[in-house]
Amino acid sequence: MRKGEKGRISFYITDGFSRRPPPKGGGNTLWSVFAHYLKIMLKIYNTLTRQIEEFKPIKDKKVGLYTCGPTVYDYAHIGNLRTYIFEDILKRVLKYNGYKVKHVMNITDVGHLTGDRDMGEDKLEKGARREGKTAWEIADFYIKAFKKDLAALNILEPDIWCKATDNIKEQINLIKKLEAKDYTYKTSDGIYFDTSKFKDYTKLSHQKLEELQEGARVEKNPEKRNPADFALWKFSPKGSKRQMEWQSPWGIGFPGWHIECSAMSLKYLGDQLDIHCGGADHVALHHTNEIAQSEAATGKKFFNYWLHGAFLNISGGKKMAKSEENFLTLDNALIKKEINPLVYRFAALMTHYRKPMEYSKEGIEAAKNGLEHLYNQVRSLGGKKGQVSKQFKNKFLEAINDDLNMPRAMAVFQQVLKSDLTDADKLATILDFDKVLGLNLAKVKKEKQKIPKQIQILVNEREAARENKNWAKSDKLRNEINKLGYLVEDTSEGQVVKKK
Ligand code: AMP
Ligand code: ZN
Repeated sequence: MRKGEKGRISFYITDGFSRRPPPKGGGNTLWSVFAHYLKIMLKIYNTLTRQIEEFKPIKDKKVGLYTCGPTVYDYAHIGNLRTYIFEDILKRVLKYNGYKVKHVMNITDVGHLTGDRDMGEDKLEKGARREGKTAWEIADFYIKAFKKDLAALNILEPDIWCKATDNIKEQINLIKKLEAKDYTYKTSDGIYFDTSKFKDYTKLSHQKLEELQEGARVEKNPEKRNPADFALWKFSPKGSKRQMEWQSPWGIGFPGWHIECSAMSLKYLGDQLDIHCGGADHVALHHTNEIAQSEAATGKKFFNYWLHGAFLNISGGKKMAKSEENFLTLDNALIKKEINPLVYRFAALMTHYRKPMEYSKEGIEAAKNGLEHLYNQVRSLGGKKGQVSKQFKNKFLEAINDDLNMPRAMAVFQQVLKSDLTDADKLATILDFDKVLGLNLAKVKKEKQKIPKQIQILVNEREAARENKNWAKSDKLRNEINKLGYLVEDTSEGQVVKKK
């Protein structure tokens, strides 16, 4: 209890990054402190329970995060990239909350077939034929392109990148475990997982098994015991050699698509299976199968939290998909049109990750104007060393911790700019927010200072004229600066110069 605060309990909440007092107003009663804490702790929507839950990692302040990576047979489209932006925001929110994140992302460079239910061709081998390259060259090329897209969108790289082809042994070992526990059977084209032996196969998708069977009638594999069964290992076709194939206890072939994510998440995050993410299309098939085979093999729960990002659709609510050939890359939609790729990140921030987002040229144009306006607001902030406002930081934290409510967080950002904080404090506060937003605000602010020497001389002269109250000279100098393509504004913190 503090001196002079009779009958009131007074203490601080530690949230991992700062010690701060409970908010002013409402009194420091135990209840108000508790209510404050409730609002601020991280809550996320878990597909597994279909509820917004308080996030509790397995190990104190450490988080294991696994995000399903790209299948590298073509460029990523901006739909894929929406999912990677959402995952990046999640990771940054975890870090902002003081967690140490171990992030693993796989690269699917084999085994993802053109038909989702283990039929059709391997996408990598198909890509190789299309481009007259080897499957290995195709993978290499599109991995580089993917990393370039991530960098352009300010998406933080994972701590561990892992390729399916570098982890064949681990996948074979996992299949062996499943075989030993009698979860597998053999057909003429591969080794399959028997989904009827796994209790609660649809616990993630919450589908009825009958619905799955209904949907799977188009399936043309009469050797499968149940329509939902999936391949763990596929045999190379008889009489032909694949570019990517390996020896296994069951014969030469290649792993099924799902097994890689189980094998690699168990390998790299074994005792830290906290959060697993992907796009909404992964719920009913890929993640459902990952859970079944992992939990069958280990007998333990596989990941506590499952988060899924909604689709980017094209007009009419149709999902952007590689197979539909309606897809736009970051290059086509933005970079080639000389639009800053962060405009797309900004657009993604303005829609909650669980709400579908519709792509349109007008939408991109609006986001472009929105980001430019925001950048101008940042550029016009004078002042140097300021303090992060605790009040606004708490508001921001409440928004991002409310299941990553970024539109609300962006509204807090605007409240800061309109507040009566000093420019320096505003700047310090929004630069702190940018740890989560990733909009390069510090760089934008610095760019402003990179004005040509000739302009800087005029600005300094104008400064002197203003100090001497020589308004006529000050106006004349402003005109000169304008003619040279720069704008000068007088703010409470002094002159602000920017390119027209
Ligand atoms: P892929 O390269 O096809 O394995 O997909 C990479 C990621 O993008 C996965 O997490 C998918 O769920 C996600 N994804 C695919 N299409 C879309 C879309 N239209 N909108 C948002 N995410 C998508
Ligand atoms: Zn995966």
